[in-house]
Amino acid sequence: MISRLLKAFVILLPLNSSLFADEAFPAHRIVGNVYYVGSKALAIYLIETPEGHILINSGFEETVPLIRASVESLGFKMRDVKIILESHAHSDHVAGHALLKELTGAKVFVMRGDDKVIASGGVGQYFYPNDRWPVCEVDRVLKDREEVKLGGTTLVARLTPGHTRGCTTWTWSTADGDKKYNVVVIGSPNVNPSPATFFSEPTASTTA
Ligand SMILES: [Zn+2]
Repeated sequence: MISRLLKAFVILLPLNSSLFADEAFPAHRIVGNVYYVGSKALAIYLIETPEGHILINSGFEETVPLIRASVESLGFKMRDVKIILESHAHSDHVAGHALLKELTGAKVFVMRGDDKVIASGGVGQYFYPNDRWPVCEVDRVLKDREEVKLGGTTLVARLTPGHTRGCTTWTWSTADGDKKYNVVVIGSPNVNPSPATFFSEPTASTTA
C-alpha cells in the first residue's frame, strides 16, 4: 500500500522542471534531415528544409536555452525555424513554446484538443489540471491526418488521443544518401493512471 501511495504521489505531482534537473545532450543528426536538439530528459527534434526548419516540442522554458545551443551547434539559425509542433500538451513538452516562438518568430501548429490548453498555458488538462505555463498563441489548429508542408518535407499529423486530447504522432519520410526512411515521432504511449487505481486495495476484478 505504501509503495502504491508513493507511486500515486509521484505521478500526480504537477510536472516541474526542477524535478527533472534537465541537462544538455549533444545535438546530432539522426537520419536524413532529422536532428536531435533535445536535452538529456526531453526529446526535441529539428527537421531541416531549404525553406526553414521545423521543431517538434519545446520542453520547459528552462529547456529553451539548451535547444538554442543545440540548434546553433549544428550550424542552424534560430530565426530559420519556421514552424513549432508538439507531441502533446504537457508542460515538459510545450511550456517552452511561448519563449521559442518569441526567439524564432515561428508559427505554432497544434492538434485540435491540445490547442486551447497551449493557448491558455495549461487550462483544461485532465492529467495535470493545476499545471500552468506561459500562454502561447496558436497560429493553426490541425485535425487528424492533416499535412504540414515546408521546403519539400511533408509531415502528417496523426491524432493519437489518450495521454492528452490532442496527443499527436508525426510521420514523414526522409532521404539519406540513396535510401529513403519512414520517420515516426510517437505522441505518447503512456496510459494515464486513475487515482482510484492507486488509492484502493486491489480486488479480484482489478487483479484478474
Ligand atoms: Zn505527458
